Amino acid sequence: MRNIIPICLYLLCGIANGQDFDVVLAHGRLMDPASSLDAIRYVGIRGTKIEAISESPLAGRMVLDVAGLVVAPGFIDLHSHGQTPENYRFKAKDGVTTALEMEVGVSPVPEWYRAREGRALINFGASAGHLPARMAAMHDSGGLLPRDAAKGPATPQQRRETYELVRRGLDDGALGIGMGIAYVPLATRAEILDLFRLAAGRKTAVYVHMRNGGPVEPGVIDALQEVIADAAVTGASLHVVHITSMGLRETGLCLDMIRGARSRGLDVTTEMYPYTAGMTDIGSAIFDEGWQGRQGGIGFGDLQWALTGERLTAETFARYRRQGGMVAIHSIPEEVVRLAIADPMVMIASDGILEQGKGHPRAAGTYARVLGRYVREQNALTLMDALRKMTVMPADRLGMPDKGRIAVGADADITVFDPARVIDRATFENPAQYSEGIQYVLVNGTLVVKSGEFVEGVAPGLPVRR
Ligand SMILES: [Zn+2]
Repeated sequence: MRNIIPICLYLLCGIANGQDFDVVLAHGRLMDPASSLDAIRYVGIRGTKIEAISESPLAGRMVLDVAGLVVAPGFIDLHSHGQTPENYRFKAKDGVTTALEMEVGVSPVPEWYRAREGRALINFGASAGHLPARMAAMHDSGGLLPRDAAKGPATPQQRRETYELVRRGLDDGALGIGMGIAYVPLATRAEILDLFRLAAGRKTAVYVHMRNGGPVEPGVIDALQEVIADAAVTGASLHVVHITSMGLRETGLCLDMIRGARSRGLDVTTEMYPYTAGMTDIGSAIFDEGWQGRQGGIGFGDLQWALTGERLTAETFARYRRQGGMVAIHSIPEEVVRLAIADPMVMIASDGILEQGKGHPRAAGTYARVLGRYVREQNALTLMDALRKMTVMPADRLGMPDKGRIAVGADADITVFDPARVIDRATFENPAQYSEGIQYVLVNGTLVVKSGEFVEGVAPGLPVRR
């Protein structure tokens, strides 16, 4: 009995002041790129929303002392192929609160969302994918990416079916249209243009892995010209994925082209991951005849088999290509990574996927690597600029005013990290290693990481739809 009276008084007091917060983050260094606020603040969370930002203390049922740590909007990954419980754990430990499959996309859309609803650690969503739609229409035997039929030209009937599936995906709430033109090299310019027109009609964006990369024509310049022209003539918004792995040494020119398009009023954005290697399926069209030149003049030894970490030879390349599987492509010069990461126009996105611990380290380490390696160690960009590329820029690309911000009324997706310690641990040899220094992660107001450890048995991730 003795304890009841003080507790009641405390609760009444809290309610009277509107301070019955579920969670309070106390004494943290709030960094919100949307408002440019960088100051010590208290953040009050009630339910799934941020309800107070205050210079003076707030009362709450759970008060977390985050002194010395940065309180930032949860990171939004526009390019996350890994959409499983395994992947969501790595994302959360890297500070990501929303992981979206925008490049390849999905089809059919409702089943994909239904499989994750109520079970996800972090928020999830996807575009309506041209690749999976085309694979269905053409009965391709591939998995994430086409392996056979869909690499070829489509009949008029197959093209109509593909278009219909993408259109239906948008009706079902998909976040835009995803495209991987390089994986379906015989998809015609007209087939692609049709989908830009569809996106424009729905006032949404196309997220595209371009038709070609690298310096050898037809290369990245032609490919970028194609999609910028399609955006210009249809009015669709355009997001060009992983500009560094497509641009290679032409990345600077690509960024100038995108800047030029934007300065003439086109809605064109882009993204990168902070690594000097890409990764894709060795059985895909990326490795059709002439891949060495298209990848900027690399050889077999620049390919690394994800399952074993071994570098390839002509013999192992031929064998694995028949078999299929993920291979890292060491093709992106470090100075290209540094150029793009310092460009205020370029967002951060991982392009990651892990399957039973195997894959590219970007799936686990992208965000902590930018904050630790490129901000703290190399001073390649400021901490606020890095956070902007991970939060409000992708939120604005998606047209989501309640995400990517620490503001009253915004979704309580929050990442709290130690700027002196944050760093990636994932490597090409052992990619399944959690990042360090991400101390607290809240998804829709629920803690999923607390004091650097997982909170088990929670699934607060919500579907993100249009
Ligand atoms: Zn891609």
